[in-house]
Amino acid sequence: MKKWLRRLAIGALIGLLLFAGLTFLRRQLARQQINQEKHAVSSALPVDIGETNTLEILPLYENAGLPGLQTGHGVSYLVRTDNSTILFDVGFNLEAASPSPLMQNMNALGISLDDVDTIAISHRHPDHLGGQNWWTKGTFSLDGTTQAPLGNIPVYVPEEMTYPGIVPVLSQEPAVLADGIATTGVIPYLQPFPVWLATPKGDEQALAVNVAGRGIILITGCGHMGLESLLARAEAVFEDPVVGIVGGLHYGSATLDSLQPEIALLEGLNPVVVALSPHDSDPVVLDGFAQAFPEAYVSIMVGQPIVVSAVAASPYSGDELAATKD
Ligand SMILES: [Zn+2]
Ligand SMILES: [Zn+2]
Repeated sequence: MKKWLRRLAIGALIGLLLFAGLTFLRRQLARQQINQEKHAVSSALPVDIGETNTLEILPLYENAGLPGLQTGHGVSYLVRTDNSTILFDVGFNLEAASPSPLMQNMNALGISLDDVDTIAISHRHPDHLGGQNWWTKGTFSLDGTTQAPLGNIPVYVPEEMTYPGIVPVLSQEPAVLADGIATTGVIPYLQPFPVWLATPKGDEQALAVNVAGRGIILITGCGHMGLESLLARAEAVFEDPVVGIVGGLHYGSATLDSLQPEIALLEGLNPVVVALSPHDSDPVVLDGFAQAFPEAYVSIMVGQPIVVSAVAASPYSGDELAATKD
């Protein structure tokens, strides 16, 4: 082998080892930071978020949907309670096209931005911000090519983000959005590969809705923080118990055997609703959870509302108002 070629090979090898070492170090530091942040919030005082008698979660963008509606890899849910309508995440737009799949679905379902009181973004990944186009610019949009004026609509974000004409609210702690509905505050997580090569740590927030006589339903985006962290946060900061979860838990192609501890965690809640997002869990996982929770499981489909109704305070009211698919 020629001398210069050998030198080049040795140089490349040293460079590669240095890169691997530094990446490993950054990841370890991120891990340490995550542990500190989790500890910092677990000592927060319980937050009384009030309650709502009605909760309807209408998927506007997802991997599965009713006929005639757009579907794809991403999440957008419209969350309606007694006195608020919250847009949670804004889906994905592969082509940066206008109107976006989300806008097409909103039009088909008779929903406009005027109906929305508040926007909440779960985390900074393109399938929740409206596509790569906006993600690379550190912002989000309901549409592919334009950003509609949001006027007075407050926007809650888990990390620094921009939007023309407004200043998104970054709240580390839980923020009450309306009677019975709050953010969980941001929960740190290790970024999935390959995003962690650039930024090892991310932050995600979920919504918590306190349905009268039931308890708290958590609504998640990708659920990168993990079910255990999410439940620990909810337990630390909310007075009422968690009784359901709707959204992404990022199980991917995990085997059902490996998910038994997660299923046991949910069983411990005696949930009234369990609905896993098909955008970040494989069909075999969804089927496994549907079998584990035959009473509570609901499929997430664009255009199909998930309804959780209150239970009257009277002990004679029965338990007939379970989560329904219609
Ligand atoms: Zn996602
Ligand atoms: Zn994600």
